[in-house]
Amino acid sequence: MIPVTTFKGRKVALFGLGGSGLATAEALGAGGAAVTAWDDNPDSVAKAMAAGIATADLRHVDWSAFSAFVLSPGVPLTHPKPHWTVDLAHQAGVEIIGDVELFVRERRAHAPDCPFIAITGTNGKSTTTALIAHILKSSGRDTQLGGNIGRAVLTLDPPKAGRFFVVECSSYQIDLAPTLDPTAGILLNLTPDHLDRHGTMQHYADIKERLVAGSGTAVVGVDDSFSSLIAERVERAGTKVVRISRRHGLADGIYAEGSSLMRAENGTAELFADLGGIQTLRGGHNAQNAAAAVAACLTVGVDRQDIVHGLKTFPGLKHRMQPIAKRDDIVFVNDSKATNADAAAPALSSYERIYWIAGGLPKEGGISSLTPYFPRIVKAYLIGEAAPVFAATLGEAVPYEISGTLDRAVAHAAADAARDHEGPTAVMLSPACASFDQYKNFEVRGDAFVGHVAALEGVTMLI
Ligand code: ADP
Repeated sequence: MIPVTTFKGRKVALFGLGGSGLATAEALGAGGAAVTAWDDNPDSVAKAMAAGIATADLRHVDWSAFSAFVLSPGVPLTHPKPHWTVDLAHQAGVEIIGDVELFVRERRAHAPDCPFIAITGTNGKSTTTALIAHILKSSGRDTQLGGNIGRAVLTLDPPKAGRFFVVECSSYQIDLAPTLDPTAGILLNLTPDHLDRHGTMQHYADIKERLVAGSGTAVVGVDDSFSSLIAERVERAGTKVVRISRRHGLADGIYAEGSSLMRAENGTAELFADLGGIQTLRGGHNAQNAAAAVAACLTVGVDRQDIVHGLKTFPGLKHRMQPIAKRDDIVFVNDSKATNADAAAPALSSYERIYWIAGGLPKEGGISSLTPYFPRIVKAYLIGEAAPVFAATLGEAVPYEISGTLDRAVAHAAADAARDHEGPTAVMLSPACASFDQYKNFEVRGDAFVGHVAALEGVTMLI
């Protein structure tokens, strides 16, 4: 745990007592702050009380006594409308921050030189974060990985000289971290997502921009227009920018050319690493993630040999285009993490004959952007609330059935694929939707998929 000493002897209000909220309350307490915590869910309040955290209904307390209000990133700060606690904090003039802000203040206070890499973007955050941590660890460095992936940031070991921090940041966490100042900050890409919580695309982009604007070195993917403009703006403001691209060459920066990762300086490019044959880094999207990881690792002083070794030995992540089982020439692929159409595109572009399981809680934009991949889909198996909407988009272009639930979708897709003798096929869960209509989260959905596949006759599990 990282005891938060920057609020020692002061009163702090906290709302949101889920996993990271509880950890934050404990970290503040351990550092000597007097925390008053609350949650709309009585069970969470009871759990906090059992853990020895002081609780009080924040409607009935004196807000003028608080030095800060710590909000859980899951609670609306602005959209669709500010949570009632946010209004109370504003009225009392109390600053609103999150756990990542507490972490950066702690780092500045105790170990400002310890390397800190922060990662954001619409897609690829977790892969890039895990890849960077893997490169650092496999080169023998003391590495802490957390934030929006794995462990809440304040549950990590405390900042100290020579310790590396790799922290994934969601836009909600950035919104609550006004002084975020990583050594290297990565913005991978920007496409519409979470607009229900951010209002407009511009507002969403503005929040993401803050992570790179505050960085020592900004690593920015320049393949979309929002990110590319951000790179220019941040550079004009005086920050060192390393551009990365999966789509085109660059005079300066790291870019992909086929499976080659190139490093360019002043118009001269050289091969930095060959990604060909690295199963866990298949596809153009992973070239973008690898380019970002390379740029960040170079920034914090890792040498090329160690970086290349780390790329080659990356074990990959669960639920992201993960081959989980085989039966004859059918491969079963778990891509449950693909919670929007953009995230589903890489998986659809990586296989030729696909029995596609999709659906769940639909996101802005639906699946019309996936039209170029429709010829690869032999049949679609639609589940959850999105089924009718997706069916309307598929129309005449792709045969589909409304399976409703994942178990039926798996059974029907596997049976149809078994009758397909036109070449290797993939039965793939790549839902292009959130999971919350039927599952607690994408991990539970992915595990359920694995379970249904494992129950099929004659499959060989690969995990
Ligand atoms: P995040 O943490 O941002 O949600 P992940 O690394 O967990 O991203 O990847 C989720 C899914 O998004 C992957 O399964 C893949 O399909 C897709 N994806 C990964 N990296 C990228 C990228 N750089 N650009 C577009 N899509 C990506």
